[in-house]
Amino acid sequence: IIVAQDVHKHFGSFHALRGVSVTVQPGEVVVVIGPSGSGKSTFIRTLNALDPHDGGSIVVDSIPLQGARNLDAVRREVGMVFQSFNLFPHLTVLDNVTLAPTRVRRTSRAEAQQRALDLLRRVGIEEQAGKFPAQLSGGQQQRVAIARALAMDPRVMLFDEPTSALDPEMIKEVLDVMKELARSGMTMLVVTHEMGFAREVADRILFFDAGQIVEDTTPEAFYTNPQHERARVFLSKIL
Ligand code: ATP
Ligand code: MG
Repeated sequence: IIVAQDVHKHFGSFHALRGVSVTVQPGEVVVVIGPSGSGKSTFIRTLNALDPHDGGSIVVDSIPLQGARNLDAVRREVGMVFQSFNLFPHLTVLDNVTLAPTRVRRTSRAEAQQRALDLLRRVGIEEQAGKFPAQLSGGQQQRVAIARALAMDPRVMLFDEPTSALDPEMIKEVLDVMKELARSGMTMLVVTHEMGFAREVADRILFFDAGQIVEDTTPEAFYTNPQHERARVFLSKIL
């Protein structure tokens, strides 16, 4: 469902992605890890064209990402959840979730609200529907962000360190929602250092270093016997 071939990305003279190639099958859960600054965020941002790439090719759900042409089409296919929730502070939880479907998909308000309530129930916070983001805990806000992304019926979900800004007791409630999503068959790319999540639900681990994927393997192989020195050094620091 995602085919990236020899993807490059520069920020000015800085070469942030140096030939990244990866294929993700429908339903796969791929965990992306690596040192700070290795290009993890940059890579997943290129997958929904938040950042344009400047070399190589990316095809998502048969849509080639080239220039500005297919931006809207691909963003409907790809949901994204960030470390910092990025909810609209002046909108209620329910309105955060219905905004895109009513504006972009032209779904009727009643239908969008019904679907939003179903999604809020799925992430365990339907009773918060009338509140504003600032009235929720971080874990609840992140679950709203997940519901909001799902409201567009994406084929692929991208997560960039979704639990890094959360207190420990809230991390589990967000990871549990992500596990349920994975079990439901969603295709997911997740930047996270949560090893329990990676070992339990990931089909593959991509290890980034200096703008390249230096290891693409199973969680079992990665955590027990990483092939590359840089992966070994990295694991020795986080474990
Ligand atoms: P972290 O674990 O800290 O989130 P990361 O692997 O996600 O790191 P990226 O955010 O992808 O790393 O950044 C890769 C490199 O590209 C870094 O050196 C960063 O400074 C640089 N970079 C990222 N975004 C920009 C930008 N908008 N302008 C200039 N440089 C950038
Ligand atoms: Mg990052």
